[in-house]
Amino acid sequence: MSEEKVEAKRKLIEGGKRRDGRGPEDIRPLHFEVRVLKNANGSALVQYGNTKVLAAVYGPRDPGARSMALPHRAVLRCRYHMAPFSTHERKSPAPSRREIELSKVVREALEPAVITESFPRTAIDIFIEVLNADGGTRTAGITAASLALADAGIPMRDLVAGIAVGKVDGVLVLDINEEEDMYGEADMPMAFMPSLGLITLIQLNGTLSEEEFWSAIELGLKGAEKVYEAQKEALRKRYASVEQV
Ligand code: ADP
Repeated sequence: MSEEKVEAKRKLIEGGKRRDGRGPEDIRPLHFEVRVLKNANGSALVQYGNTKVLAAVYGPRDPGARSMALPHRAVLRCRYHMAPFSTHERKSPAPSRREIELSKVVREALEPAVITESFPRTAIDIFIEVLNADGGTRTAGITAASLALADAGIPMRDLVAGIAVGKVDGVLVLDINEEEDMYGEADMPMAFMPSLGLITLIQLNGTLSEEEFWSAIELGLKGAEKVYEAQKEALRKRYASVEQV
């Protein structure tokens, strides 16, 4: 294959369209469902295109080990995990360094929203299971976990909406997928509490100019507002069906 052809193959944006047909500011189709597991106190299944993530919340409950309990608030414990079948090649089910780090990242993005002071000496456990990975799994995990926390009836200051912005072929794009993450120039996962106008997570992998950085935040906020609307709709649906029972 000539160098030109290889270059063309790698082009992520052509004629203003991304390889999956989206414009730069388009989000993938969102499908959110709340209360999908019977045994958990709260649960949610979220899809951003081909990225599919399940979250389950247990608690507030006895933390088990006494040393874990805090006298003034609940402890939040979080496990982010990718199922062995969630990637192209089988992923080892054992927790990787990446998963251990992301568990902490996700917990810290959710912590500002949860009113943990209401439940001293207890633990709230959040399990995030990536079922199908196509980029943006940490941000989808945050969205799913915040829906599952709401479903468990845990008081929160706001829902947390996760979204990633990337830079591909020199253009800022909303909600990057795996291919754009792999071949793009930057990936910036973010989480917002949209009605409070607060950011609970910003990470940046790659390089952006200062101007691009601020534009990426603005684009991320626009995306988070769409995610937030879909979250509220999923919760409304869930409670409408409860009323019918
Ligand atoms: P995020 O999923 O939050 O974007 P990364 O930037 O680390 O997190 O990963 C980008 C994408 O790369 C993931 O969504 C997934 O599609 C893919 N990926 C990550 N880890 C693995 C892995 N161990 N095996 C295969 N694909 C992976």
